[in-house]
Amino acid sequence: MTNLIPPAAPLSDSFGRVHNNLRVSVTDRCNLRCTYCMPEDVTFLPKDDLLTFEEIAALVRVAVPLGVDKVRLTGGEPLLRRDLPTLVAMLRDIPGLHDIGLTTNGLLLAKQSDALVKAGLRRVNVSLDTLDPGRFRELTRRDGVEQVVEGLLAAKRAGFERIKVNAVAIRGFIEHDLAPLAHFCRGHGFELRLIEYMPIGAESWERDKVVPAHELLERLEAEVAPLSPASDYDPAAPAMDFAYADTGAKLGIIASVSRPFCDRCNRLRVTADGKLRNCLFALDELDIKPLLRPATRPDELAAALRANIGAKWAGHRFNDADFVKPTRTMHSIGG
Ligand code: SAM
Ligand code: SF4
Repeated sequence: MTNLIPPAAPLSDSFGRVHNNLRVSVTDRCNLRCTYCMPEDVTFLPKDDLLTFEEIAALVRVAVPLGVDKVRLTGGEPLLRRDLPTLVAMLRDIPGLHDIGLTTNGLLLAKQSDALVKAGLRRVNVSLDTLDPGRFRELTRRDGVEQVVEGLLAAKRAGFERIKVNAVAIRGFIEHDLAPLAHFCRGHGFELRLIEYMPIGAESWERDKVVPAHELLERLEAEVAPLSPASDYDPAAPAMDFAYADTGAKLGIIASVSRPFCDRCNRLRVTADGKLRNCLFALDELDIKPLLRPATRPDELAAALRANIGAKWAGHRFNDADFVKPTRTMHSIGG
């Protein structure tokens, strides 16, 4: 007789895609107002609607046996959520969860880096589209570029193992910012990740504003240094990974528009108010808060996760004429 519990079947959808990557939004609030992400005026969720840390940890405890081994904390701006390091420490203690990441705009990173590292966070992505204070204000409707740079430098001192800088490539901006950002990242050992501009923000999206991956690469090679595909290129990863020929430092391009990676998608998302979304562009979502509050119902929660992933569509439709933009904007989904 054996008392080994057979492992649960992984979270796969009808296209055979296995989902191991859970993105958890911890707040819809933000201290910036990036034009490509959210409107200036917005009503935020009441505090009581947010999943508590205990509820988030309970969700992750149910998701891990179903194959989830990566969690990324995001928002809104996740560092606005009080005591975020406490959540990191709670997640770090969950056996089977191998990777915890954070995506932040960096404004509060200088203050929180040490506590986050102490809590067990090893990887951070910091969003920074420009080093120019004027263009930063134009893009984010706020000031703060110096604070973000300070946050990045503090993160380096605090001992994060891997620090990435996310920049959304928008025509009219990135042409000016690409080389300065690339040189800044190369100089400090940060990995630059350029993200093609997607139709998920509040402002009207125009395809002409998308700077496709091939153009970004051409510009980088002309203005910074030659690049070649990275040796550990992972076809399952959303980022196309490159390495500079001279230093070997890495750089990624997330080409969601010109080279969609939906056929390899391994992500599921939960919003700060407990809505499960099987795609960033999903038009439907599943409310799982009743399965976490007042108490966790693990079997029903596992079944809900399976059902939500099982119903996942083939992919986003924003290259199709009948594309319908989700009503939620990026800040309230969790990027
Ligand atoms: N506030 C944090 C931050 O800015 O890093 C976390 C949340 S933010 C929604 C996550 C990521 O989504 C950021 O890197 C941001 O640049 C990206 N993003 C937001 N709107 C986007 C859009 N329309 N197209 C591409 N990326 C976008
Ligand atoms: Fe806030 Fe991040 Fe959206 Fe900018 S991209 S408004 S920092 S949530």
